[in-house]
Amino acid sequence: AGQKQTHGFQAEVKQLLQLMIHSLYSNKEIFLRELVSNASDAADKLRFLALSDGSLYGDDGDLRVRISLDEKARTLTVSDNGIGMTQEEVISHLGTIAKSGTKEFFSQLSGDQNKDSKLIGQFGVGFYSAFIVADKVTVRTRKAGSAANEAIEWESAGEGDYTITPVTKETRGTDIVLHLREGEDEFLGRWKVESIVTKYSDHISIPVELWQEEQPERDGEDGEKIAAVPGHWQAANKATALWTRDKSDISDEEYQEFYKHISHDWSEPLSWSHNKVEGNNNYTSLLYVPKKAPFDMWNRDAQHGLKLYVQRVFIMDDAEQFMPSYLRFIKGLLDSSDLPLNVSREILQDTKVTQALRKGCTSRALKMLEKLSKDAEQYQAFWNEFGQVLKEGPAEDMANKEQVAALLRFASTHNDDSTQNVALADYISRMKEDQDEIYYIVGDSYTAAKHSPHLEVLRKKGLEVLLLSDRIDEWLVQHLTEFDGKKLRSVAKGGLDLSKLDDEETKKAQEETEKAFADVLDRFKTALGDQVKDVKVSHRLTESPACVVTDEFDMSTQMIKLMESVGQ
Ligand code: ADP
Ligand code: MG
Repeated sequence: AGQKQTHGFQAEVKQLLQLMIHSLYSNKEIFLRELVSNASDAADKLRFLALSDGSLYGDDGDLRVRISLDEKARTLTVSDNGIGMTQEEVISHLGTIAKSGTKEFFSQLSGDQNKDSKLIGQFGVGFYSAFIVADKVTVRTRKAGSAANEAIEWESAGEGDYTITPVTKETRGTDIVLHLREGEDEFLGRWKVESIVTKYSDHISIPVELWQEEQPERDGEDGEKIAAVPGHWQAANKATALWTRDKSDISDEEYQEFYKHISHDWSEPLSWSHNKVEGNNNYTSLLYVPKKAPFDMWNRDAQHGLKLYVQRVFIMDDAEQFMPSYLRFIKGLLDSSDLPLNVSREILQDTKVTQALRKGCTSRALKMLEKLSKDAEQYQAFWNEFGQVLKEGPAEDMANKEQVAALLRFASTHNDDSTQNVALADYISRMKEDQDEIYYIVGDSYTAAKHSPHLEVLRKKGLEVLLLSDRIDEWLVQHLTEFDGKKLRSVAKGGLDLSKLDDEETKKAQEETEKAFADVLDRFKTALGDQVKDVKVSHRLTESPACVVTDEFDMSTQMIKLMESVGQ
């Protein structure tokens, strides 16, 4: 055998381990879900590679997961005959966290365990959850296609470091041996383990097997002999890919567990949509809206997209071609019967099938959100997490602009509250009789928008104004200029004409004021010179003496600030 080497965990792994062990203590059994989930992923990856190199299967083509319990040694072992790992892969996958932005994320942790436990939920639980119940974990793994004596053993007590040793392993794939902590003996019970597998892993598409002891010959009720059954491996799960099953046969719990398997999220999804499409294109999609935004939602390099299957064979993770960027928070999978099995990311870029699938999935996702929006409380929870991303929609997706716009929510003078919960349709339903535009103002903050002098006259006339203050809002209103036939109109720009909404008397009074102030205006213009384009008498203000207004087609003061902040 070769040399044993000791390696230190990446600092973030140490932090993750600490937090995880403390925050998941009351829900320990999920370690089994995570290990089975990884084993199933490993089978998926092998099946994919074997599409182009069948020899990878060797003489062992029946992919499965096996869980063995050893009461004497106090170990629980999860074994798969999937893809396995090379030494480099072991070091990078079981010693570091390979997601971009991880370092930044971890540097934000406060050290307050309570708060941090909540934050950490944005991370997948994953392999390291083994240490919730084990004080030592041994991993033996042999990559598909490599020789028995090229296997690797990884071992760690989940503290600062782990060891790597070259070993011999007769079979392909990975064994994960958990040396259970004192007091965790319940995970040595066959019945207990079987019930956990059924609970969490029924949807896994390969068998998850437990050893069934030999049953000796015995007497039946009517005196007949029942033959002995030799010991054998027996599947504890249904072992059919969840999305291929009938909707009516799938429970909410199964959908939720499946979500955790594919999303690596700790919490339940907010909603889901499962669809089989037949016709010009044949595919099944299963889409989920998560409850919480992932830590890297704003990271440009972060992976997102759907899991892609072709005829039930896993092809790739994070296929971003099927969802527009403003729906990047949607998780799920797509199983197509029309794409070739050897499809690559490059081929996906420009096939007609991709276009059609993207269109279909986008529309399903929007419908799912529309349905969610019928429940005000749930939708608010969704909006608070993902609203800012959805606001990228009108600029990105011309075809679905109106549908996306209907899903947007804003703060408004109607509620006088910073909660973004007013839909454009709500606004329209409250419009005054002669009002034909939707008024909004963009400010640096909700408070700034709310106290803008531009609002004074609208408040006086009882006109509702949307109060926009997210960074993205200026961008949004440049692309969303109309909804349901009504123009969106900034109350801070020129061209705001409220005269239609005035009565005759007011109009007359305004004309007189303008005449009376003509001289004063001239003096202002001379004094301000080139610093302004024009000086006008305003009927918009009721309390403030003056305010700065930009031309209808000029950049708003907000946009100017934004450009300055990025160095323009
Ligand atoms: P995730 O599953 O979200 O990627 P995990 O912490 O569960 O994160 O696993 C980390 C990585 O370790 C996996 O992405 C995979 O590359 C590798 N891995 C874990 N378990 C196995 C296994 N049984 N077979 C092959 N690779 C594995
Ligand atoms: Mg995993």
